[in-house]
Amino acid sequence: MPTNNENQVLIYDTSAFIGGMDPQAIHIPQWTTPENLEEIRNKNTREILQMAIKTGRIKLRSPSEPFIKKVIEETKKTGDYSKLSEIDIKVLALALEFQSENWHPIIMTDDYSIQNVASSLKIDYKSVSESGIRTQLRWKVYCPGCGADYPIDTKFKKCDICGTKLKRKSY
Ligand SMILES: [Zn+2]
Repeated sequence: MPTNNENQVLIYDTSAFIGGMDPQAIHIPQWTTPENLEEIRNKNTREILQMAIKTGRIKLRSPSEPFIKKVIEETKKTGDYSKLSEIDIKVLALALEFQSENWHPIIMTDDYSIQNVASSLKIDYKSVSESGIRTQLRWKVYCPGCGADYPIDTKFKKCDICGTKLKRKSY
């Protein structure tokens, strides 16, 4: 995936996060809608997204009404209207709004109807499962005191070398 275009932004659909997208690994502006954050029920996925928002990697923005209307019109033309939720429509509308501001948005989605409407609106999209940038979080247990590593299933709560409370982190 290209990372050298200054006009490029990624717009996330919920399926992108469920598909294993890791926003921390991407260094171009990334956006999603507040409704998308609400929709995510999976605890790990939610934590990844909340962390990305906290660190400023992902920003939240709601599309404005004219773009929502335009997307709805388009979904009726393509026959996708009944297959898309209000949240899906807002993702498309957000991308359309960025496009009108001369950004080159790419919607990250595995949803076929979103992809279909995106191409009808001449907005690029990428399927997360095909993008090669999905990652799986791996965890390790370590001692913040002396740096010793422990197996992920360790029974120890404290370091048996220095007595510091053990921590978990993803890598
Ligand atoms: Zn230790």
